[in-house]
This record gives sequence, C-alpha cells and structure tokens, in this order.
Amino acid sequence: MAHPLSGVEFPSPVPPGSGWPGDPATADTPVAQTAAGVRRLAGSAPDLSALDARVTVCRACPRLVGWREEVATTGRRTSFADQPYWGRPVASFGDPEAPVLVIGLAPAAHGANRTGRMFTGDRSGDWLYAALHRAGYASQPSSVAAGDGLRLNGIRITAPVRCAPPDNKPTTEEKATCAPWLDRDLTLSGPGLRSILVLGSIGWDATVRAARRLGWGVPVPAPRFGHGAEAPIIGPDGNEIRLVGSYHVSQQNTFTGKLTEAMLDAVIARL
Ligand code: SF4
Repeated sequence: MAHPLSGVEFPSPVPPGSGWPGDPATADTPVAQTAAGVRRLAGSAPDLSALDARVTVCRACPRLVGWREEVATTGRRTSFADQPYWGRPVASFGDPEAPVLVIGLAPAAHGANRTGRMFTGDRSGDWLYAALHRAGYASQPSSVAAGDGLRLNGIRITAPVRCAPPDNKPTTEEKATCAPWLDRDLTLSGPGLRSILVLGSIGWDATVRAARRLGWGVPVPAPRFGHGAEAPIIGPDGNEIRLVGSYHVSQQNTFTGKLTEAMLDAVIARL
C-alpha cells in the first residue's frame, strides 16, 4: 500500500528506516524489549534525535505492541484501508530547541498510529494545529500526513505514552514503563524550557510526577489540573517553567463545546 502523499509503497507496520517521512529510526536503532530496557535506552540517549529514534522502535509493553500492530494490519478503518499504517510508537514532533512543550496523552489508533506523527490525521490534530497556526507556532493550519511540509517553530509536542492504547486507556503499568522516555525528553529540553501546555488530567499528572522524579521544584501539594490551571515549576537550572493546563483537544471535548477555539487560544497565548 502507498503512503497517501508520496505514493511510495510500505508494509504495515512501517519498518524502521524504510523511508517513511520523518522516521527518526534506522534498522540499527536499539530496541527496548522490557521496562528495564526502556530505562537503559532512554537514560543513555545522548540527544533528542537519538531519543526519538529509540522511542519509535520500542516493544516493551506486550499489550500495546499487539494492539498497535493489530490496528495497523487487520484493524484499519475503512476510509484508510488503502493506506499503510505506521503501527509503531510515535516520536515527539517539532522544534528540538523549543522553549515550549505540549504534552498530550497517547497516539490515537487511526491518527498518529496511522500517520506516525503526533496529532496528525485526525480531528484532535485539526484542532490543535489550527490553534498553533493562529498563534504563530505552526507553519500551516492542517496536519494531514507526515511529509506534508508542516513545521513547528518554538514548540514541540510529546506525550507520556507513545503507543496507541485500546479505548485511549493505558494501564498503570504501561504508563510507568513508558515514563522514562518522557523523563529523558524533559531532561534534554528542560534547561531551555519556558512553559509546558498539558492537554488533559492524565498528561498533567504524568508531567507533575516526571518533574518530581527529575528533582525539579514542584509545588506542594501537587498542583491540580483544570482548564486554565497554572503552576510554577523550577527547572534544572533554576529556570521557572510555567505549567499550563487545557482540556484535551479530543472530539468528546470539542464536539460538545467543553473546549472552544477561544478557550484553547487563550491558554496558548499564556505560554
Ligand atoms: S507505550 Fe511506551 S514503553 Fe510501552 S511499548 Fe510503547 S513506547 Fe514502549
């Protein structure tokens, strides 16, 4: 089956280093098979590009590996049945020098799990990238597929869980297994960070816990999530990082009006 933009044929899941647009891995990228492997490979990643590559070949959570690959092979949505599915963990996306991070929850089965790029190819992404474009962070308002030319400036998007989970619900064990990838991401980007926009309460709690693990200054008691919530965190160089909460850009929030464009624009303006 052919990539929807380039027309190049790929199997599903997409093999590392086979030419998928934006694939950071190669056939030689080391693969984490266990939670201990994640800790070792995340902790030793020398930079964000190595970290991204290692993330995208991880196989440490048996249930999530099985699910993401099942969706990518026999579970493709009818409207995408003629496309290859990425079917692998999803790397962070955006400016590696960004002073602002966006932290979501996990890839969507037919969004990032299909396209291989954060928030790409579904309604949640349409909302997020349109808002980032209005704020000047994104080069275009839409995010259809990896290779569509989208560039982010001054912002990078990541997540506490990198594989699509059934029903969007990772288990406690899966969240713990994946946490070292986020910890390393924060460690590598922390000194230059100004603010973090967290989409939803699961991402908020994961970010607070990660900051605590890294020894960053987190208020006590732990700041509580809410749309528009804000908390100061002291980063690794004594730099203050503003944690800003937003309702997630999921369809159940945007379709119901729980999250409006104006509400999202207002929190992004505070980053
Ligand atoms: S959820 Fe995280 S730790 Fe688990 S397999 Fe995916 S990338 Fe690896």
